[in-house]
Amino acid sequence: RAKALGRNKYQEFDHHMTARAIENMALENDLRKAINEQEFELYYQPQIDFSQNCIVGFEALIRWRHPSKGLLFPDTFIGLLEETGLIVPLGHWIIDNACQTLRQWLDTGVKPVRLAINLSPRQLHNEELSDQISRSLHLHNLPANLLELEITESMLMQDIQFTHKQLRNLQQLGITIAIDDFGTGHSSLSYLKELPLDILKIDRSFIRDIIEDNNDQQIVNAIIAMAHQLNLKVVAEGIETIAHQSMLIQQGCDYGQGYLYSRPVPADNALELIKFDADKAMDSMALN
Ligand code: C2E
Ligand code: MG
Ligand code: MG
Ligand code: MG
Repeated sequence: RAKALGRNKYQEFDHHMTARAIENMALENDLRKAINEQEFELYYQPQIDFSQNCIVGFEALIRWRHPSKGLLFPDTFIGLLEETGLIVPLGHWIIDNACQTLRQWLDTGVKPVRLAINLSPRQLHNEELSDQISRSLHLHNLPANLLELEITESMLMQDIQFTHKQLRNLQQLGITIAIDDFGTGHSSLSYLKELPLDILKIDRSFIRDIIEDNNDQQIVNAIIAMAHQLNLKVVAEGIETIAHQSMLIQQGCDYGQGYLYSRPVPADNALELIKFDADKAMDSMALN
């Protein structure tokens, strides 16, 4: 009996795995097609400088306009892109497309803003990354200091020697390096000191309840103090309310990003945000 049960269980498990594998294969096929057919789009979310109360940059966030499923968010497909290695060619496209968009914005005469791009582990560990980025910057005639690369805390700990070399090359080009989702990974603080980093982004899980939760307040306070000690600027992610913003300004945070300012929006809307921001600055100057 036990044996029969065991076998049934096994079959059930096997069946489940097969369904899952088939689903993934279908998704992988879809992804390959999507890259060829250019079904991906970048959305842009503004980052606010608290000291100047203006937009200083945008984070580019990938979306997939799926022909039948509609607009898909990265959590539904980034994992498989990474597993299959498809993130490397798509990552190319992401960097080049973001640079092209920034060039188009600048050509309208708006003030320069910085563009932050998320890198996946495979991209970070790709030997050709810095050459590719150089080429895109050159092709679109952009200074490297308008480009920022975000890598997550956990990525820092994989192949530390290569990561170090790669980041140093990128920083020498003039690119800004940000550590993303800080507080959720397990990076060693000594690496934080050694690695060439410029910006630390506090994960939004610490911001969400910061008004009610004294622990979160203390943690964020400590992260900001530590970051400043290490000469890093700090971005708080996931700012959704004025109360969040006030708390973070009070704590000495440098930049903010979140739904309070804007959700991620298509490139044209992002350009409107930059223009609106400039008008707002002009208005307040006129008032003073
Ligand atoms: P992330 O880099 O930490 O990006 C921030 C995420 O938080 C975005 O989700 C953004 O829409 C969301 N967010 C921003 N403000 C708020 C807020 O106030 N409240 C809440 N609840 N959420 C907020 P999204 O666009 O779904 O991206 C999820 C993750 O997917 C990103 O996290 C990043 O790890 C990855 N990702 C996105 N685009 C790319 C890309 O082009 N390449 C790579 N490799 N990964 C990407
Ligand atoms: Mg990010
Ligand atoms: Mg993040
Ligand atoms: Mg995240």
